[in-house]
Amino acid sequence: MKTIAVLGSTGSIGTQTLDVVDKEGDVRVHSLSAHSNIGLLEEQIRKYKPAIAAVTDEKKAAELKIAVADTNTRVLSGVEGAEECASAKEVNMAVTAIVGIAGLRPTIAAIKAGKDIALANKETLVTAGEIVMPLALEHGVNIVPVDSEHSAIFQSIADQGKFLRRILITASGGPFFGMSRDELSRKTRFDALKHPNWSMGAKITIDSATLVNKGLEIIEAQHLFGLGVDRIIPVVHRESIIHSMVEFCDGSVIGQMGVPDMRLPIAYALTYPGRRVPVSEPLDLVKIGKLTFFDIDNETFPAVNMAKKAAKIGGTMPAVLNGANEEAVAAFLNDGCGFLEIAELIAAAMEKHKAKQNPTIEDIAQADIEARQIVKERLEMRS
Ligand code: NAD
Ligand code: MG
Repeated sequence: MKTIAVLGSTGSIGTQTLDVVDKEGDVRVHSLSAHSNIGLLEEQIRKYKPAIAAVTDEKKAAELKIAVADTNTRVLSGVEGAEECASAKEVNMAVTAIVGIAGLRPTIAAIKAGKDIALANKETLVTAGEIVMPLALEHGVNIVPVDSEHSAIFQSIADQGKFLRRILITASGGPFFGMSRDELSRKTRFDALKHPNWSMGAKITIDSATLVNKGLEIIEAQHLFGLGVDRIIPVVHRESIIHSMVEFCDGSVIGQMGVPDMRLPIAYALTYPGRRVPVSEPLDLVKIGKLTFFDIDNETFPAVNMAKKAAKIGGTMPAVLNGANEEAVAAFLNDGCGFLEIAELIAAAMEKHKAKQNPTIEDIAQADIEARQIVKERLEMRS
């Protein structure tokens, strides 16, 4: 019996994790955390009866406390509340499904408490992989990726890591695949929120349209699998059936396939190293007919190269890429900037930042704040 904490339980990954829990049967939910959606969190509390629930927003936490006063669930608040959810004695795995750098502190708390991590929150490794990976090693913690590409890479490597030559990380190409910069300049958030293959939270959906998501995932893979970013090759694969591949030193390529359904990598992480019940529709390759592959158009979508550059500089630079992106995406979702401006704002923040090597968590938090400030200033200057 696995006992889990679901951090970010009201989001896309969080709700799908609870769906997998329903199917698996012998996973117990000890704690849930959310930012502000207390209506859904209350429903989850009544169904899963967790010992603790945390709401980051203090006012909403106070409201939830009153709403669930008739249950045995203890309601906590703030980042500390999420940290307590992650590190509670009874928990043996934390599912990190918070979006953005907000997931970093609770993930670190879970690792320090020796909990295995089902990692959806890629921003944790993007911003602080240099700290988080050694910390996991020190505490004997398994980090099992939930991101579909990384789950595929993890499964494909199996116990053959020492033979690994390259990673071929697949990308759907997003809703704007094949378009020109002129076309992109007219795209609104409504266009960008229509992903062809996956239904996800708003931030990652925009990241998929800009290809920032693939950039973040290359940095995530660098930390998870210990390969330099030049050996992690993005390949556009429109059908999202092969979730990624690895190439071994003899030239053999192994990949993992499945329907595009996040419940598959979530279930894999929850049942690792075993596998149990079916959690998605079976894959029907005849119905799909063909699988296609293309190069990334780096001229139109500069984000992958920007991420590789940030990874090579290292230190606090990936946190600046991430922080500037989070701020720019928030602005784009509020009609505060254009689609192409997202990458320009990231580039501007990276340009201004002098990276600090071997950073502490405080240095990373500071770099994140600085990056957001630069984006805000540029947006204000312009309006
Ligand atoms: P989402 O926006 O649907 O949900 C985010 C969750 O985080 C919510 O429960 C919300 O309450 C919580 N949250 C938001 N801001 C918070 C804050 N400041 N403090 C604490 N909690 C906060 O996001 P999502 O699409 O589920 O993505 C979650 C993470 O998983 C992201 O890092 C994303 O990159 C990664 N991921 C998602 C998918 C997907 O299919 N959705 C696939 C791969 C990776
Ligand atoms: Mg992914």
